Amino acid sequence: MANINEQTQTVEFEIAEFEAAWENAPILENKSKDEYRLCYICKFPIGKKNFSEISNDEFAWTLDLINAKKPKLENENYVAVHKNCIPQRPKQDSRRQLKFTWAYKWFYDEEYYKNKK
Ligand SMILES: [Zn+2]
Repeated sequence: MANINEQTQTVEFEIAEFEAAWENAPILENKSKDEYRLCYICKFPIGKKNFSEISNDEFAWTLDLINAKKPKLENENYVAVHKNCIPQRPKQDSRRQLKFTWAYKWFYDEEYYKNKK
């Protein structure tokens, strides 16, 4: 379970919770769901290896709460997103938006990323 660090005023999550967040992020039809997911906020892919705990990349991902209005620290309330996208989330309660995103088929655009570093 998540641990609240009183000294630093932060919540520390466990690996299993990051895994749950990953599982709750929408999949890309043409990529392994273990390697890539979609960030429901910006609709760009998230690479699993690009994890914010070990990377400072602008597309590094982290765990965010789906419904931050009722900030329950439970697996169903976790979702993987780009860390930099969190301030851009449109609502405190993203349950509808996430459900809506899952309803579509998303594809990783190989051509687009081939031309980028
Ligand atoms: Zn994003």
